[in-house]
Amino acid sequence: MSENKYNLIIIGAGPAGLSAALYASRGSLSTLVLEKGLCGGELNNTEEIENYPGIDAKKGSELAEMMTNHAKKFGAEIKELITIHSIDLKSKIKTVKTDIGDFYSDAIIIATGSEHRKLGVKGEKEFAGKGVSYCATCDGAFFKNKHVVVIGGGNSAIEEAIFLTRYVEKITIVHRRDSLRAEKILQKRAFSNSKISFIWDTTIEEIKGEKTVNQVILKNLKTGEVSNLSCDGVFIYVGLEPNVSLFKEQIEIDPENKVLSDKFLHTNINGVFVAGDVRNTPLRQAVNAASDGALAAVSAINYIESLED
Ligand code: NAP
Repeated sequence: MSENKYNLIIIGAGPAGLSAALYASRGSLSTLVLEKGLCGGELNNTEEIENYPGIDAKKGSELAEMMTNHAKKFGAEIKELITIHSIDLKSKIKTVKTDIGDFYSDAIIIATGSEHRKLGVKGEKEFAGKGVSYCATCDGAFFKNKHVVVIGGGNSAIEEAIFLTRYVEKITIVHRRDSLRAEKILQKRAFSNSKISFIWDTTIEEIKGEKTVNQVILKNLKTGEVSNLSCDGVFIYVGLEPNVSLFKEQIEIDPENKVLSDKFLHTNINGVFVAGDVRNTPLRQAVNAASDGALAAVSAINYIESLED
């Protein structure tokens, strides 16, 4: 056990997990970060970051690399592409069972982030990767000179639609209300972009195609009118779903599956802290996630020191 035993294990290496790793390792905790994909989390799916203080217009993946190297500099051990089979949060010594072995720690920080919510309409699953996408940065280039539909009215939908204008000929944003939730600065950019048009008060009933997507069925929520719209792709941005499946049964979460915590980011379980998009937070930004990571790490340091008293 001793060689796989750490003071702290951090689950997830997005901005929350990497910031926690930096603060914890700099604070002299032996720190292991376990990441199911690649370091950076959602940063890797963001083409350009322009609202992280001090970082002006940098690629998300570059910021991710900077954060990773910064955490490693102070000694954090980071393992990518790890499958976690189970976690025991409740015992005094926490256990994380993975495909590369079992790891143990005094404290855990949950920084598992969230993933894009599915729309749940007919055709969405069938055409995933065949015209249906949740990531403009990853798939935008496949739609050069095409017409794509973007669904949603939040920051993700509008930001990604603006990004897609680099490639596509035309974008139709379909939103279920008649006003956007996105920040005003993004709205202004979208409204003034000649490639972007809007269909308001409307939802997607079905995504159709043959080998790939060729149309969506729309329903106007005010009139009930059903119509079809030809398109080559559908990008879905209807919110985020916290990644809690690994520990949902053990920890207190709210009705939207967001992990609950106190102001020190301590969850209801002794020695278990939470940071970033997976928690019940009013603002989901890289800067908040990084701030959460710092606080969760300091709280973990204080917790571990209290064990030694
Ligand atoms: P969001 O803010 O929750 O917006 C989701 C959008 O999808 C809303 O406009 C919502 O409509 C719509 N929607 C939800 N369920 C739907 C359904 N079943 N059918 C049709 N439309 C549906 O999610 P998000 O845009 O992914 O952003 C998530 C978080 O990340 C937010 O806190 C956001 O600020 C943050 N974020 C920030 C940036 C940035 O700062 N640059 C970029 C991306 C994301 P209603 O408006 O009617 O509810």
